[in-house]
Amino acid sequence: MYEPLLTRTRQIADAFLDTLDDRPVRPASTFAALTTALGGPLPEDPAEPTLVIEQLAAAMQPGLLPSAGPRYFGFVTGGSTPAAIAADWLVSAWDQNAALHVMSPAVAAVEEVTAGWLLDMLALPSTASVGFVTGATMANATALAAARHEVLRRAGWDVEADGLQGAPRITVVAGAEAHSSIGQALRLVGLGASTIVPVAADNQGRMRPDSLREVLAGVSLPAIVCAQAGNVNTGACDPFPEVGRLVRNHGAWLHVDGAFGLWAAASPTLRDLVRGVDSADSWAVDCHKWLNVPYDSGLAIVAHPAAHRASMSQTAGYLIRAHGEERDGMDWTPEASRRARAVPIYAVLRSLGRRGLALLIERCCQGAARMAARLATEPGVQVMNEVALNQVLLRFQSSSGRNVTSAVIAQVQNDGVCWAGGTRWRGEPAMRVSVSSWRTTPEDIDRSAAAIVHAFRMTSEVSA
Ligand SMILES: *Cc1c(COP(=O)(O)O)cnc(C)c1O
Repeated sequence: MYEPLLTRTRQIADAFLDTLDDRPVRPASTFAALTTALGGPLPEDPAEPTLVIEQLAAAMQPGLLPSAGPRYFGFVTGGSTPAAIAADWLVSAWDQNAALHVMSPAVAAVEEVTAGWLLDMLALPSTASVGFVTGATMANATALAAARHEVLRRAGWDVEADGLQGAPRITVVAGAEAHSSIGQALRLVGLGASTIVPVAADNQGRMRPDSLREVLAGVSLPAIVCAQAGNVNTGACDPFPEVGRLVRNHGAWLHVDGAFGLWAAASPTLRDLVRGVDSADSWAVDCHKWLNVPYDSGLAIVAHPAAHRASMSQTAGYLIRAHGEERDGMDWTPEASRRARAVPIYAVLRSLGRRGLALLIERCCQGAARMAARLATEPGVQVMNEVALNQVLLRFQSSSGRNVTSAVIAQVQNDGVCWAGGTRWRGEPAMRVSVSSWRTTPEDIDRSAAAIVHAFRMTSEVSA
């Protein structure tokens, strides 16, 4: 009964994937045109599914971005690998609920095995617990809920039972360059974003150990410190050996937002960038960025499984629990009913193997270094960061000395050879190039570098 629907759907998907290498890296339609094409009142009568899919695809295709393609360098965006896409299709076809073992022994098992592989690849303690969540924002929130539980338990307070009203005050310390989702996560767990005590950052956005030492001297327990592996602009990682030692000696909880940077641990040649990160108490990691699986996929990892479970699990008469060693996935996530997100992660890890995963990470970093080297030869282009990971931060200056970065970004996006976004770095507009896709080749880097230089020259001519 699924023929010819799924065959037709596969053809549409195939045709789209075939365009990823060559289609312009910009949308071909507008929000208004797209909503018109898709919209109108919901019809009264049913429609044939194959027709629905064909019309849906036709209406949406002009507004799709080839963000899974090889020359999309916006935000931190990977493109799903073939094994990951195929596994994700099966997840939909199987339609298993990942909440409880009793709902799907197969999904419980794949989560268990995948969690073990992930801890191994990320060089984190094998005894840590792993929750398969929607992304790093929710991973930060989950890990910080576990942190909140544990630091208050040590202070003699049961936050799950009694909430935060009347609880001992928790001090949250974070790097001045912490990702915005840390603030969001702190809001969600009731600790607030504006009460963060900031630690000064160096010129790459790394937490400064001397500043952390000073800050901690004035902080009493209970306390949580948020560090970072992979600054969203520079890719820089906090100095974990020093940070870990200071936080441990102080008795605080150390959380690490490693949305993309933690993947450096999967490469023998890059591992040193995150040395010492395994001594933290919790970690947030994205899979839909650098592991190149489909959205939505992140990991909340906690070195104290009892705290993780206490902060997340729920009980009810009808929620039939596993009796033995079996895994109930919902013990580790804020959601109950949940997609089997571990399945595409399993598929991508198994298809790459250890060596393939290391190569994926290394090739992206080599791509970033190549991009920086190409662009640095152009007078007026300044590489603003130490390109150690997969991020390149650029500043463009016209011959008259004006910062024309914003105009260059607009021109690059309009040309459509590649896509790079903007940011502000140390008070000035900057272009961000993030190399995170398995598809990106050295040729894509060269083509994109040439396009960026071209856009810069066009902009400079106009502004001269
Ligand atoms: C992307 C990112 C996040 C947010 O992740 P989502 O998966 O978009 O929720 C958090 N922290 C860092 C450092 C990131 O790069």
